[in-house]
Amino acid sequence: MSADSSQLFERARRVIPGGVNSPVRAFRAVGGHPPFIQSASGPFITDVSGKRYLDYVGSWGPMILGHAHPEVLKAVCDVAQGGTSFGAPTEAEIRLAEMVVDLVPSVEMVRMVSSGTEATMSAIRLARAATKRDDIIKFDGGYHGHSDGLLVKAGSGAATFGEPDSPGVPADYARHTITLPYNDGSAVDAYLEQNGHNVAAIIVEPVAGNMGCVPPIPGYLERLREACTRHGVVLIFDEVMTGFRVALGGAQAHYGVTPDLTTMGKVIGGGLPVGAFGGKRELMELISPAGPVYQAGTLSGNPLAMAAGIKTLELISVPGFFEELSAKVAFLVDGIVGIAAKADVAIAASRVGGMFGLFFREGPVHNFAQAQGSDLTRFNAWFQGMLARGQYLAPSQFEAGFVSAAHTQAHLEQTLAAATEVLSGLK
Ligand code: PMP
Repeated sequence: MSADSSQLFERARRVIPGGVNSPVRAFRAVGGHPPFIQSASGPFITDVSGKRYLDYVGSWGPMILGHAHPEVLKAVCDVAQGGTSFGAPTEAEIRLAEMVVDLVPSVEMVRMVSSGTEATMSAIRLARAATKRDDIIKFDGGYHGHSDGLLVKAGSGAATFGEPDSPGVPADYARHTITLPYNDGSAVDAYLEQNGHNVAAIIVEPVAGNMGCVPPIPGYLERLREACTRHGVVLIFDEVMTGFRVALGGAQAHYGVTPDLTTMGKVIGGGLPVGAFGGKRELMELISPAGPVYQAGTLSGNPLAMAAGIKTLELISVPGFFEELSAKVAFLVDGIVGIAAKADVAIAASRVGGMFGLFFREGPVHNFAQAQGSDLTRFNAWFQGMLARGQYLAPSQFEAGFVSAAHTQAHLEQTLAAATEVLSGLK
């Protein structure tokens, strides 16, 4: 008999730290072991024991068309026949860049990388070079990948210098990362009034997706834009999660606010490793070899990844795609909210385009501190109850959920039926 997930997890832990290649996959927050995946198709993933789950993680965002979409697979396989990597330019790189420039309002030029982490790290280097300033502002509970300067959490007050979140990040380096509460425009104004001349960039998830799903309050993004313009600070929208997810043109199109730089990932690679950063021409032309700011990558613009990205962006550009996706998310989330109300379980829900979040607490939730006030015991019972009923949700209260175009009304109804059973048992 072939190994089941618990046997594979044990085997993995001997040779891979924690048994996984990215921490949240390990199910530490919710206990137990993760299912090891054998295959995936449409809205489903299937584990090595043959158990099938309706998937609301979607590889943490990229799989907006569902898994193993035949046209995406065909595009990748066709290209693979002609070689998998050249380390020399291809036309596909231009094609994907042109698509991004067409679709994302603020982007005039773009550089491809292989992950979101690389995109944010490079965008910050560029902002520092352009402004000749060293400090950056990020927000509590914002995640921008695992580069040193971005792994910094809140200090005790708005003006407190950050501390490393992870051992191995030099305090001298973390000192240049200032953390402020999300959705608090006055904290940003106050900090910049005093210290704006030292701040190179503000990096923000325009819809926070790494503390659960927390949309910006009305006027917040506009206020960041004004503050950055006033103080000569580069505004970076980290759209690794929201890009091509909350709307075709990302959160900047949805909210109508224009950043100076944008970082992208996830959907742009259609399930293959792609990240990108782009923005105003005058900034992007500082990037090597057009300018002096060094940035490079052996596999950047990889032909298979470009093929998956191009086909994915083509398919989501079909008129009505995002209206339909948002309607599915609304049906699901509003359904769960209604069921929770009947079951007398407090839930604060949010949704924007193709992403959503559910906090087990009274609402509203506008920032990380409020997100942290959720009832984690209830979340875990919800998570395990849904998993047992074949519903694969993110194994943490502090992650967003994703719906794909492959989820049908019937699939969503199955999820609501499971939610009815689980929520009625949570009281
Ligand atoms: N920025 C945001 C907003 C993200 O959600 C993530 C990943 N979840 C990253 C950056 C990092 O991307 P990657 O994991 O591809 O390095």
